Amino acid sequence: MSLKKKQKHICNFSFLIFVLMAVSSFSQIDPQPEAKRKVKEMEKKFSLAIHGGAGTILKKNMTPEKEKEYLLKLGEALDAGYAILNSGGTSMDAVVASVKILEDSPLFNAGKGSVFTNEGTNEMDASVMDGKTLGAGAVSGVKTIKNPVEAARLVLDKSPHVFLSGKGAEDFAKQNGLKIENPEYFFDSVRYFQWKKLLLEEENNEKGGGFLSPSEIEFNVCHEQKFGTVGAVALDKSGNLAAATSTGGMMNKRFGRVGDSPIIGAGTYANNNTCAVSCTGHGEFFIRLSVAHDVSALMEYKGWDIEKAGNELIFQKLTSLGGTGGLIAVDSKGNITMPFNTEGMYRGFIKEDGRATVKIYKE
Ligand code: ASP
Repeated sequence: MSLKKKQKHICNFSFLIFVLMAVSSFSQIDPQPEAKRKVKEMEKKFSLAIHGGAGTILKKNMTPEKEKEYLLKLGEALDAGYAILNSGGTSMDAVVASVKILEDSPLFNAGKGSVFTNEGTNEMDASVMDGKTLGAGAVSGVKTIKNPVEAARLVLDKSPHVFLSGKGAEDFAKQNGLKIENPEYFFDSVRYFQWKKLLLEEENNEKGGGFLSPSEIEFNVCHEQKFGTVGAVALDKSGNLAAATSTGGMMNKRFGRVGDSPIIGAGTYANNNTCAVSCTGHGEFFIRLSVAHDVSALMEYKGWDIEKAGNELIFQKLTSLGGTGGLIAVDSKGNITMPFNTEGMYRGFIKEDGRATVKIYKE
């Protein structure tokens, strides 16, 4: 064999070896297991946050027993949502389950514990939003539906509409088998006396007796007792976000006043691309600032993280306008933020590790 031919053989042989080595090393680098592991990891992640209203909640005004009651109820609401999320349920099912627990408790201004209107009735508002579909449902001014959050969910699931109000919303709920209660169910003596006290103070003021100025009434009675709301936001194992909010609104409200809680974009918002938000506080301000949607918009258009976006709304926009309150929000990675500019906010959260955190006051 000539030298040239030998060289050519050696060259071909080396090339063959190279190809074989390359094939064997490629077959060892299977890109799938790593990607699968990451997807699996993401699938396991979930988060739930809840609130029971923001206001002038001071430790000095609270007995240890009352404090314990609040913390236990918040814990119970977290447990209900956690059980659903942990077993692979949807974020929508979880937020509704958590909110129902808070609605059934007289401790919070929603459902059973709703404040009294000027006419001595209880009128409730609620809303839900699904971050995957951007579907939403809301009811306002309902007086007999045991769990208004379920009525909001029903509007989302079973109607072509987003927002039903008053008697129409009640008829729709009844026709679809939701639990209806007599007005007495919503009577709570503590709420009743808070309302009577407010009436007396306002009456006395109108007569010029004025032992309290309107702003003092606002301060003394308002923030802890006059407002209040419950809400929940969640990310489920499939990466879907949902939000729910429910309230009895503002104590002594009249003329069919409706706050932010049932208004999509003001008190409630969810979008899988950004976050899920539920607000609490002086509703008129939250409506004017479209608070819940604005948190999402700052994340979507400015690329801000959830904490920066939430802080901007509460500590900058809401505070400069003179509004008080807070919000809870969770993003599509499960990060949670809970800013408020009041003395306290009943709140809590839980993630896939199952460790619940519940708080009332400022840190
Ligand atoms: N935002 C509710 C409302 O204005 C009340 C509250 O959250 O405290 O009706």
